[in-house]
Amino acid sequence: ASTPDHEPVASGGSDRVTGVSVATRDVHLAFGANQVLRGIDLHVDAGTTACVIGPSGSGKSTLLRVVNRLIEPDRGDVLLGGRSVLTDDPDRLRQRVGMVFQHFNLFPHKTVLANVTLGLTHLKGLSKGDAEAHALRHLERVGLEHKAGVRPGRLSGGQQQRVAIARALAMEPEVMLFDEATSALDPELVKGVLATMAQLASEGMTMLVVTHEMGFARSVAQQVLFMDEGRVVESGEPGRVFEAPESERLQRFLSQVL
Ligand code: ADP
Ligand code: MG
Repeated sequence: ASTPDHEPVASGGSDRVTGVSVATRDVHLAFGANQVLRGIDLHVDAGTTACVIGPSGSGKSTLLRVVNRLIEPDRGDVLLGGRSVLTDDPDRLRQRVGMVFQHFNLFPHKTVLANVTLGLTHLKGLSKGDAEAHALRHLERVGLEHKAGVRPGRLSGGQQQRVAIARALAMEPEVMLFDEATSALDPELVKGVLATMAQLASEGMTMLVVTHEMGFARSVAQQVLFMDEGRVVESGEPGRVFEAPESERLQRFLSQVL
């Protein structure tokens, strides 16, 4: 694993993580007559971050759901660490691939701590005591160990999203997927969540991030993929993609969002 080239931004215990590469090959998926993914090839090197940008309806969320096997593709393959995972047990795969959604999906009537321990006791089979110790370590990583005993409703949206990130990290995934993780947040709360994500990237996680935050894509990602109508129309280093977009569709998209 490489050394992070900047200091972690959050105060929490910074664990090194070992991300593995994630890739798709010629992934196709239709919902009825709606051909949503039309041959997606991507490769994210171990320990790097790729951002997926593109207009609404272009298939970004569906792509993440295929990688996480919440949906099976009609055709094509999904690989972790160079190995196809389409025949693996989906529950096992979802422990290897963490996902954070736009809406945090925390259980409102459980404490922050209980939200994080749930997967540890149910999926990983940890005892309650071990799960709580482990969960607290991950809450510390996102700077929220002092909120362990409260219910999510008492937290800001940004704090709730960081709990959702801690919950995913507690499962010790090898890849993290983020689907517009900051889109539902008030503007002043976005920065803290992006900082947590940037820290995770610097610690060596492999991340596939659907986002409208072009600043994050520019400063954190090694790769940007532009999707439109179920295809990766253009991809490359963020500097190149943003400064010198080749396709007319990407030029038009960037002129609307930048
Ligand atoms: P994006 O995340 O880029 O906005 P999505 O992947 O959510 O795009 O959606 C791509 C297309 O797939 C849209 O036309 C959407 O209506 C359709 N779609 C997404 N999920 C479903 C589903 N579960 N059933 C039917 N159609 C869906
Ligand atoms: Mg989406």
